[in-house]
Amino acid sequence: MSDHPIPLSRPDLSALEEELVLRVMRSGRLAIGPMQEELEALVAERAGCRHGVAVSSGTAGLFCVLRSLGVGPGDEVITTPLSFVASANVILHVGATPVFVDVDPVSLNMDPRLIEGAVTDQTKAILAVEAFGNPAYMDEYARIAARLELPLIEDSCEALGATHKGRRCGSFGRAGVFGFYPNKQITTGEGGVIVTDDSRLADQCRSLRNQGRPVGMGSGASARTGSWLSHERLGYNFRLSEVCAAIGVGQMRRFDEIVEKRRATAERYTRCLLDHGDLVLPTIDARSEMTWFVFVVRLAAGFTADQRNAVIEGMRNHGIGAADYFPCIHLMPFYREKFGFREGNFPIAESVSQRTLALPFFGELGMRDVELVCQTLSVMIDRAKLRGRE
Ligand SMILES: *Cc1c(COP(=O)(O)O)cnc(C)c1O
Repeated sequence: MSDHPIPLSRPDLSALEEELVLRVMRSGRLAIGPMQEELEALVAERAGCRHGVAVSSGTAGLFCVLRSLGVGPGDEVITTPLSFVASANVILHVGATPVFVDVDPVSLNMDPRLIEGAVTDQTKAILAVEAFGNPAYMDEYARIAARLELPLIEDSCEALGATHKGRRCGSFGRAGVFGFYPNKQITTGEGGVIVTDDSRLADQCRSLRNQGRPVGMGSGASARTGSWLSHERLGYNFRLSEVCAAIGVGQMRRFDEIVEKRRATAERYTRCLLDHGDLVLPTIDARSEMTWFVFVVRLAAGFTADQRNAVIEGMRNHGIGAADYFPCIHLMPFYREKFGFREGNFPIAESVSQRTLALPFFGELGMRDVELVCQTLSVMIDRAKLRGRE
């Protein structure tokens, strides 16, 4: 039906990013330089936080935050089963145990009413995720975390620039983390930024990303004395290269324009699909402002995972990108094996995740393509319904 392939996502890159990358290459300074510092400042400002720490990925950023908070073996971290797998994997990376709580079927974020019931003597932190960039409940998680005297970590990898009740994503917890893989709102190719108001935590993350060197050893803003080969703690190489940071600086300078285009695409989809009886569209709290990471729709109750998969397959066969965002984390083979999770453990997350699908989504997706995607989607849903009755 589509005469050209429509990808699931496409980064929005301009001549500005090209120019900044060239500037880095011509400067000869390819790591630990001014682009990283500018990116950190721009992202921290966008999140309303005092400090930004650039890292090589969102996953690395979450890992650094957990390590800096002292989360380790024997500890538990409360989190959501309906997310990209990395948000729970990082808990395993530090040797701790993820404790999942089910989601609220409207926002798809953790059901705040279930959090206290999951707390044990081993609970060390709450790791909340804005599912598909939806910031619902972030203020409530912060209140619950404060009451329980637990740090809230905000995995904001899908929510850069979003707000809830006037507050910016990334700023609700002790630290927030953004990821800049090419399908996110902005990209650095690979990369991420940790944001926080806690200067000690920021310094610890700066040290961890730079082989455990003391801060100031070419890793932070102000240089201190000391040896480049003196390592205070077990660190890692999670630095972001200047080339990647330059792409990010260009993207951040164009942030409002990029987000506005994504909003327009989301609006086009909403207009086209509003009256589709077999679909549930994203439900956004009136007090939230989205920057739109993806456009994920859900087949109505009664549709099966097989039917949803057939819809995705059918769209792909017509050159239209579609994906099953997100399978439940607790049902991933290695989580099943390690923890004995099975179907039925988190019924709402499971019921939702088997019926959701992500549609092609990026700022340059025009009305004609959106209409094509929606028409193809409708045809595939009708086919899946027929097949479901056989
Ligand atoms: C993308 C993403 C991550 C990981 O970010 P990377 O930069 O790919 O490591 C973590 N959590 C969530 C919710 C994400 O969407």
